Amino acid sequence: MSCDCCPSTPARSANCPACRQAGAAVGATTLLHQLATPWQQPPGAEPHYFCNQRDCPVVYFTASGRQFSAEALRQPVGQKSNAAGRTLCYCFDIRYSDLADPGATRQCRDFVIQKTRDKVCACEQRNPSGRCCLRDFPTEEE
Ligand SMILES: [Zn+2]
Repeated sequence: MSCDCCPSTPARSANCPACRQAGAAVGATTLLHQLATPWQQPPGAEPHYFCNQRDCPVVYFTASGRQFSAEALRQPVGQKSNAAGRTLCYCFDIRYSDLADPGATRQCRDFVIQKTRDKVCACEQRNPSGRCCLRDFPTEEE
């Protein structure tokens, strides 16, 4: 549970008001880099959560009912699309269509893993989820 006095320790997840699925907490840094005209809709201290359900229109939400849909963001949200050209890795612009076969998938995955180790990723700023893109990669079996 979160409390009003400790915005730095929000609940790790909360259920999306639209689809009822769990959304993971995102930091204010992510919101400030993702929202269009963030000065007109500052995140504030309340914890925000990211809904990664593809068919749900809500991208960010708070426990008090604040919601942001894709139109409130400055770039398309890859997690909300099944288009071939959707972005998987926002740090290095890897698209779903770049993973044409298992070899290409492995090459992209290994590249991201190496860059993560090198600490040159910018997931918190660039990815709408605020997290590493590897979780959005298809599994080897797909
Ligand atoms: Zn949702």
